[in-house]
Amino acid sequence: MCFVQIVVLAGGVGGARFLRGVRTAVPGAGVTAVVNTGDDVTLHGLRICPDLDTVMYTLGGGIDEERGWGRAGETWTVKEELAGYGAEPSWFGLGDRDVATHLVRTRMLDAGYPLSAVTAALAERWRPGVTVLPMSDQRVETHVVVDDPDTGRQQALHFQEWWVRLRAEPQPSAFVQVGVDAAEPAPGVQEAFDAADAVLVAPSNPVVSIGTVLGVPGMREALLATPGRIVGVSPVIGGAVVRGMADRCLPALGIEVSAEGVGRHYGARATGGLLDAWLVAPGDAAADVPGVDVRAVPLLMSSPEATADLARAALDAAGVSPSG
Ligand code: GDP
Ligand code: CA
Repeated sequence: MCFVQIVVLAGGVGGARFLRGVRTAVPGAGVTAVVNTGDDVTLHGLRICPDLDTVMYTLGGGIDEERGWGRAGETWTVKEELAGYGAEPSWFGLGDRDVATHLVRTRMLDAGYPLSAVTAALAERWRPGVTVLPMSDQRVETHVVVDDPDTGRQQALHFQEWWVRLRAEPQPSAFVQVGVDAAEPAPGVQEAFDAADAVLVAPSNPVVSIGTVLGVPGMREALLATPGRIVGVSPVIGGAVVRGMADRCLPALGIEVSAEGVGRHYGARATGGLLDAWLVAPGDAAADVPGVDVRAVPLLMSSPEATADLARAALDAAGVSPSG
């Protein structure tokens, strides 16, 4: 038997929603998600992997749909009790249900299991219907370089502190992937690319989600060796991001906040970039990305049906028929 094999590069909310569309579009396919772990952080002694958890909860039916992250039916007693002790940081939303995930993860990591094995163990409960791989078993943490308003000097903050505590207000001048030099793609990533009929780049943040995944030494080479076509989906529609902080991140790298700008940043596979095809919104149909098959399709993941249609369009651009 020969199932269609698909790899999706993903961050958190945009990646998870797109993955859900891919799962619906090709129910019989083998789907592997390679997920950003640059947002990971240790708080209150707990190892937290926001993008892995968003993917796992979204595909496993445990996500808070409204918020896009965290558990449905969440309560916040632990957070309130920590605040009662004045235990910092108080700005991170650590839900009671979510804490159980972090406790299990931290315990397994402390016992010596690699993150990929821990992720597989957590997925036994959630049964996401796709193989969820962290980009790497090694710790890589994104830091954001900003000007300290008090001293005027540059300062590097953990991504979560910049995004959650400071609400992405200080304009970043650079992003630093702490630990990336010692990282390598997680077990299974190379094999997934080698077997892929298509690799889809989810409409995730091009800098701190997709950029971080691609920054793992060896990742880009492993991806480009895939026999499948590589198709990206723009997270920017009509010059604006749908949600999140990509519009604060792109300018730091000199990338225009537009579907064309992000497409050009990823570049054509034929000329040393990534993409064989690039999906943009109908209003961005004029986007010109030299060497790339630019296709205009509705990009809003506003419903499961709309998202599955988007996934079908991506697979079509990859030359993969959803019926397998
Ligand atoms: P995060 O880790 O939770 O920030 O999520 P991701 O990096 O996976 O995705 C964030 C990106 O998803 C943002 O840049 C958004 O513009 C994009 N996004 C969110 N919803 C949609 C949507 O419905 N359609 C498209 N095309 N992009 C979306
Ligand atoms: Ca993220």
